[in-house]
Amino acid sequence: MMIYDIAIIGAGASGLMLAANLDMEGSRGIILEGSSCIGSKLLMSGGGHCNITHGGSVKDFVYAYGNEGQALRRCLYRHSNLDLARWLTEHGVELADENGDPVEPSYGSNGIDNEGRIFPASMKARDVLDVLLGEASLNGWQIETDARVSGLRKDGSWEITLINGYELRAKKVVIASGGITYPETGSDGSMLEILEDIGIDINEPRPALSPVYVENYPYAELSGISVPDVTVIAFSSDAAYTCKGKAARMKGDLLFTHEGLSGPVILNISKYVEPGELIRLCYNKELHELPRRMQRILRERSRGLLGDVRTNVLASFLNQDDFIVSGVDEHGMVTAGGVSLEEIDMKTMRIKAHEGLYAIGESIDADGITGGYNLQLCWSTAAAAADDLKDNKE
Ligand SMILES: Cc1cc2nc3c(=O)[nH]c(=O)nc-3n(C[C@H](O)[C@H](O)[C@H](O)COP(=O)(O)OP(=O)(O)OC[C@H]3O[C@@H](n4cnc5c(N)ncnc54)[C@H](O)[C@@H]3O)c2cc1C
Repeated sequence: MMIYDIAIIGAGASGLMLAANLDMEGSRGIILEGSSCIGSKLLMSGGGHCNITHGGSVKDFVYAYGNEGQALRRCLYRHSNLDLARWLTEHGVELADENGDPVEPSYGSNGIDNEGRIFPASMKARDVLDVLLGEASLNGWQIETDARVSGLRKDGSWEITLINGYELRAKKVVIASGGITYPETGSDGSMLEILEDIGIDINEPRPALSPVYVENYPYAELSGISVPDVTVIAFSSDAAYTCKGKAARMKGDLLFTHEGLSGPVILNISKYVEPGELIRLCYNKELHELPRRMQRILRERSRGLLGDVRTNVLASFLNQDDFIVSGVDEHGMVTAGGVSLEEIDMKTMRIKAHEGLYAIGESIDADGITGGYNLQLCWSTAAAAADDLKDNKE
C-alpha cells in the first residue's frame, strides 16, 4: 500500500492554501479531491471575483466570526489579512478594493490600510486558484481528483479508503473537506460523518450566509430593491443558536428578492434564524425615506376593516416589521458547525486527541460574515497547520 507523509483531504481554498505554503521536498504529499474539479467554491467566490479578505486592522476581525471569534483570535493574529495580502502580491496577484482601486499591503502595520473588501485586481477568482495550484505543484504535491474518501482509520499511520475501494496510508492527514452547502461542488459533509464515526465531536452543520424566507411575504414585487442600514433581530427559543442566549441583532443592507429576504444583513444573521421563530425588521427610517413602492405596500398592509390606513399600525411597521420564518435557504455561502473548536489546538490546527490529524478551513466550526472573512479563515488556519507541519517534519 502506498505510504505518504501527508495527505490533504479536499482541494478547495484551504487545502490548496496549505499545499501552496508547505514545501514537500524530500517527502511525499498527496491531495485527495473527491470531485472531478479543483477549487469549485473558490471559483464561485464573490460572484467569480473572489473577495479574498477584508482590509483594516486584524484586531477588528474577531467580531466577524461571532461566538467563535475569541477562539480564532490567536490564529488570525499570527496569520493575518496582511500576511495573506503580502503572500498574494509576492506571488504576482495584485490586489484591489471593490472599486478596482489598487490596494498595497502596508508593511510594518498590523493590517491593510484600505478598509473594506479586498479582491484580486483582475477581479478573477481563477487568478487566485492558478497561483495556489502553481505553488502547490512547485512544492511537490500530487493532486488526485475523483478520489472521494469514504473511510479513515488509525492503525499506526492513517489508513485512508477511497470510495472506489483503493487504499493508501499517510503519516499525517489534514481535513480540508469544507462544509455541507453547495454539495454539487463536492462539499457534501461526508467527511464530517467519517470524523464523527472515529469519535471526533462535530457540531451540527447547517447553512449560513443564506437568504431567509418568511410566511405571508408581502414584498415579492420589490424584488431587486435594497434598503440600507436596516436592523434585523432574530428571536430564537434555542439559546444555542443565538448570541449568548439573547436575540441576535445585526445592522446592514437588506435586499428584497422575489421569494424572500436577502442582502448582507440577512445573510449575516441567517445562522441564528430558525423556521417557526420571529424575525423583526427595523428600517430606522421615516416612511418617506423608504422606496416608493414599499411605502405603498406598507400603507396597504396598514388598512383596517373599513379600508382606512391606521397610522399607528403604519408607524409600527417602520420599527417592528415582524415575520415568522418559514425557511432558510439550503444554499448558504458557508456552513456553520463542523469540527468542534474544543477538539482543535488553534495554534497548530491539530485535532488534539488524534495524533497526526489536522482540520482547517470551513470543515471547522467557525464561519464569518460576508466581506472576505471566510477565505481569510481558510488562509489563517491553513498557514497555522503549514507552520506546524514544517516544524515537525519527520
Ligand atoms: C457562492 C459563494 C460565494 C462565496 N463568496 C465568498 C467570498 O467572496 N469571500 C469569502 O471569503 N468567502 C466566500 N465564500 C465562502 C468560501 O468560498 C468558502 O468558505 C471556502 O471556499 C471554503 O474553502 P474550503 O477549502 O474550506 O472548503 P471547500 O471549498 O468546500 O473545499 C472542500 C473540498 O473538499 C472536497 N471533499 C469533500 N468531502 C470529501 C471527501 N470525502 N473526500 C475527498 N474530498 C472531499 C470537496 O469536493 C471540495 O473540493 C463563498 C461561497 C459560496 C458558495
